[in-house]
Amino acid sequence: MSTAEPTLLTPGPLTTSRRTRQAMMVDWGSWDDRFNQLTASLCEQLLAIVNGADSHHCVPLQGSGTFAVEAAIGTLVPRDGKVLVLINGAYGKRLANICEVLGRSFSTFETAEDEPSSAADVDRLLRADASITHVALIHCETSTGILNPLADIAHVIAQHGKHLIIDAMSSFGALPIDAQQVPFDALIAASGKCLEGVPGMGFVFARKETLANAAGNSHSLAMDLFDQHAYMAKTGQWRFTPPTHVVAALHEALLQYDEEGGLPARYQRYANNCQVLLDDMAKLGLRSFLPTAIQAPIIVTFHAPKDPRYQFKEFYERVKAKGYILYPGKLTQAETFRVGCIGHVNQAEMHAAVAAVAEVLREMEVLDI
Ligand SMILES: *Cc1c(COP(=O)(O)O)cnc(C)c1O
Repeated sequence: MSTAEPTLLTPGPLTTSRRTRQAMMVDWGSWDDRFNQLTASLCEQLLAIVNGADSHHCVPLQGSGTFAVEAAIGTLVPRDGKVLVLINGAYGKRLANICEVLGRSFSTFETAEDEPSSAADVDRLLRADASITHVALIHCETSTGILNPLADIAHVIAQHGKHLIIDAMSSFGALPIDAQQVPFDALIAASGKCLEGVPGMGFVFARKETLANAAGNSHSLAMDLFDQHAYMAKTGQWRFTPPTHVVAALHEALLQYDEEGGLPARYQRYANNCQVLLDDMAKLGLRSFLPTAIQAPIIVTFHAPKDPRYQFKEFYERVKAKGYILYPGKLTQAETFRVGCIGHVNQAEMHAAVAAVAEVLREMEVLDI
């Protein structure tokens, strides 16, 4: 076990299939027609997942997920716009940070890390400040695994005639979002999360009219989604060097996504992973931080054992030696660790991972079972 590559139980990069990794064994040229067809077919498949072909463009962008978030805010929020940022974790804080760095006016509304943002709060905040033009939120806040009620919030924002920007990085592809039922201006995700590609590109579903009116908004040349889209629409090519291997891997990952049964199947596998994880950890006396009602089947935060012999670093290294990579906690208040449910893993791997955790806690004399 320890000689094999460990299984990543982290929410990106995550465990990918051999087939997806094999797809990277080709060096594509960026002028190659077949490569450009790969990109076009990728965008088409991604749009189909959100049922957005009629209303939205898919604009891919080189870089990690945060690059795409920053590009979306910079391109789609006019320089005189104002963003209300909903925060209940580290990724929400990052949204506010991006607004700050880009010089976009913004206000924040923060709830506790175990309290979802609510449509009623958004309604109240929009009534109180007419200068807000956009609301930005995280769908699944990966710093805990909490799910925010996206559809309810989206409807309130639409009633107010405001724009919505969704960071759906860790939920897209697994949790259903239908662009015809959940009105949004931009939804952002990336290659290396629930689609089980490798990291290296993000993509933004941008409402067609919104994007058409976004020329000149961006602070940045490379991060301008208007230009990125215009160039791709005109030439079929990426503006600037494409992440060719990442595109090929994501294309292959999407074929497997469809073969598995698309979103419902992906959701079900992750939900099963999550349930096994919660049940098996509970048997060890390890409690999850979030109540089940607001727990997304993406990543689970566990309270660390109270025993003074427990140290995350040692725990992590010992579990890694048994073949599983866990994730540190990201809470300000409580001592926690996290385990991802996403990636090319199934229930058998989740059982085995928790068995490894149990062995390690016994070795560390934290568990006496
Ligand atoms: C992964 C993730 C991001 C992007 O993070 P990168 O490190 O830039 O890939 C953004 N938002 C959420 C909610 C995420 O889970």
